[in-house]
Amino acid sequence: MIDRISFFDEFECLKGDCPVACCHGWKVPIDPESVLRYRKEKGKLGLKLRLAMKKEGEFSVFNPLAFRCRFYTKDGLCGLQMQKGESYIPGICRRFPRRMKNYGYFAEESLELACPMAAGLFLRHRDNLLYHETDEIPSYPDTSENDDRDYLFSARKCRNQLIARLQQISPIELFPFIRRMQKYAKAIEIACVNDGILEKPADPGSVNFDEIVLTEEESHKAARFLFSALDTDQLMCHGIYHVALKRRLPLFYQICLRYFEQFDELTIEDADSHLEELFQKYRAAHPDIDALLRDYLIYYLQNHFLQVYEDYSYLRMLSLATLHVHFLFLFFCLYEPTDENDIAVMIATYERHMHHNDDVLEELWKVMPKS
Ligand code: SF4
Repeated sequence: MIDRISFFDEFECLKGDCPVACCHGWKVPIDPESVLRYRKEKGKLGLKLRLAMKKEGEFSVFNPLAFRCRFYTKDGLCGLQMQKGESYIPGICRRFPRRMKNYGYFAEESLELACPMAAGLFLRHRDNLLYHETDEIPSYPDTSENDDRDYLFSARKCRNQLIARLQQISPIELFPFIRRMQKYAKAIEIACVNDGILEKPADPGSVNFDEIVLTEEESHKAARFLFSALDTDQLMCHGIYHVALKRRLPLFYQICLRYFEQFDELTIEDADSHLEELFQKYRAAHPDIDALLRDYLIYYLQNHFLQVYEDYSYLRMLSLATLHVHFLFLFFCLYEPTDENDIAVMIATYERHMHHNDDVLEELWKVMPKS
């Protein structure tokens, strides 16, 4: 059985017209089948392929510095695909931005927002983001490392309940809801430890979200922002910003510079006030922003929550979700996109660096406040 988003089949690559082509800004992992094929390739193309491949741990990648893929042509197309056809390029390039995950008992299919076309579709289908059930059978393998059926279904139920609650809240309740979500994650992890996760993984449904309440101090903080200016700065300086972004993702780099221009000289108290003011001003000018961030969070949870099936880390999952909502909002305030296309490009640029980059995620998780 495949659960799929309604606009999955509407995706069509923008090719040479793409404003942030997927051949920029990240490493391209090469599947073992393609590696073998490229090693056997003869002549000039074979030499070019072997020079372009770089070993990283167990894997081979193209574009190891995450600047621009060597096969990207000046017309904005893939030279490898033009020369040898689509079936010849790495599997990830053929699939992107389609996200297809087989959990063994069911599969889920959606689109990654790191592609501006997919981000545009997300913006146009905000009233219909949830998976639709189909009776199709996935043609791709189950790559999960867990086969605990009961736990998988329980985690899926937990995700779907969170999403259903999110759909019911008023957008202005988003930040307090997210703070509760973080406390909820902690409570599930504590339940996991108490239940003895190794013998019998906890049922995440055993923790009742409705019983999670915020203290007065937490409510007060949540009314202002999800991360203080000090925490925001720690995350910007240790994890998010890197000088190489200037070449990898110029738009992301410019937004980071705007952040430093506005916050660098401020005291901690002034930076908190400025952050709050930025959010308030943006909300006043764009009353839809909280609803948009809520929809982004719904889509994020739908796509990524089941990572807990592999690692049982609810806190990491929901803390990273919190971080993405916070920084995406900050990016809106700093960049002020002008129309829907501009928003799609900004979301795609954000996702490319912040979501599809294991080194960045590891660093952010280390630096992130865990309370
Ligand atoms: S980012 Fe999306 S639209 Fe752009 S080239 Fe890649 S797949 Fe095509």
